Amino acid sequence: MVAMDAAFQRCIVPRCGATCDVAETAFVCPRCGGLLDVAYDAARLRVPRALREIEGRWADRADPLNFSGVWRFRDLLPFAPPEHVLTIGEGQTILQRADAVAGYVGLHPGRLFLQYEGLNPSGSFKDNGMTAAFTHARLVGARRAACASTGNTSASLAVFCSATGLMRAIIFIGSGKISYGKLAQALDHGALTVQITGDFDDAMLRVQQVARRLGIYLVNSINPFRLEGQKTIMFRVLEALRWEVPDWIVVPGGNLGNVSAFGKAFHELVEWGLIRRPPRLAVINAAGADTFYQLYEVRGLRWNGGVLDQTLIDGYYAELEARNARAATIASAIEINRPVNLPKALRALEQCGGVVREVTDQEILDAKAKVGAGGLGCEPASAASVAGARKLRQEGVLSVDDRVVCILTGHQLKDPTATVAYHSTDQRTFDEVLGQRGVKRATFANRAIQVSNDLDEIIKAIELYS
Ligand SMILES: *Cc1c(COP(=O)(O)O)cnc(C)c1O
Ligand SMILES: [Zn+2]
Repeated sequence: MVAMDAAFQRCIVPRCGATCDVAETAFVCPRCGGLLDVAYDAARLRVPRALREIEGRWADRADPLNFSGVWRFRDLLPFAPPEHVLTIGEGQTILQRADAVAGYVGLHPGRLFLQYEGLNPSGSFKDNGMTAAFTHARLVGARRAACASTGNTSASLAVFCSATGLMRAIIFIGSGKISYGKLAQALDHGALTVQITGDFDDAMLRVQQVARRLGIYLVNSINPFRLEGQKTIMFRVLEALRWEVPDWIVVPGGNLGNVSAFGKAFHELVEWGLIRRPPRLAVINAAGADTFYQLYEVRGLRWNGGVLDQTLIDGYYAELEARNARAATIASAIEINRPVNLPKALRALEQCGGVVREVTDQEILDAKAKVGAGGLGCEPASAASVAGARKLRQEGVLSVDDRVVCILTGHQLKDPTATVAYHSTDQRTFDEVLGQRGVKRATFANRAIQVSNDLDEIIKAIELYS
């Protein structure tokens, strides 16, 4: 066994608590079928005395492990010995103070920060998790890795496979849902791409069956090692804030892996004596894919010590089934109706005093335009965080002086179709891409001006508009 002996896997349900070896790849509890955590034996854990100590690693960034924005924090996710770590330089991301966007959200200057995860090698936060999953896959000697994806997990998997040459990537996508930017990555990086008739929720079910049958390593966020890597997004936020805990973290919710990872990160930091209190967490659903909002805010589902009201959950899904309801939003990365990490997300909200909100595609695209105009481009799903923060501010849940961090999960160029349609002068393009989604207007459109090929006309137009 090559794994660190302080690490193991443990069922998240406290009254079950079954454990299994760190090298297991089933990613479901052997006793009750529930989700698993990566857990650490406190007695053998060597966490730093203060988070500040980790900063010293940056000075030694010629070491790829210290250069990585994930593995710089390896003491806080010690499931693999350093020589087994697989990194492609992920996690070089920034926390940017965004005063213009703060004005839009309704916060005072200096109170809103955008954590830009679009800077990762494959252009989304998924690389934080993929490097950890890959490290685990190498630990167990996997040869093939698979995922179902709305696009970014598959792009990340494809990049890691092609960059390391260690595994073959097999990706499952639904028909017609994936954006061209993301599909382009999967194809270009040589992933075996399986497009099934159905949506993400269908693809997710199938990939789990196929992975089990063929013994293929699964890299969806049901894989607890992925979430270990995604904890580091929060470590970098704290690092950028000079280790001060903000008041709120706002994150878009799809499969709910990120919020689960963030909750675990803060819970552990408190437990290990490295911070005193966690920030509050806000998860933002798209209105067209709002299972978490419906279950948590409308029907009152809670973590309840790990004893979930399964009747309530089953009833909700039965209703979706009866209505033949399918997730539908322009924010394709969160177009998910059956989030696999629901129990972990409930636990995270319990531990951090969380809330869930939903925002319309109109609100998402308007917020996205404000984010772009403010300096950082993001894809539609990411802007849900900013739209959600604005809503929470209007409700008075956030106050003007709260320090708020919105996670920009993916890069602007992932989905240029939505952006171009929003800013388009051509009503037909707008209607085709956005109108049918219930988006009525491009509130902050920056439209190209049409000028004839004539020097005087061009100069006149520029003087008029600039
Ligand atoms: C995957 C993804 C999400 C959703 O994250 P979860 O952890 O599944 O909730 C949001 N935004 C982007 C850009 C993504 O790629
Ligand atoms: Zn269990």
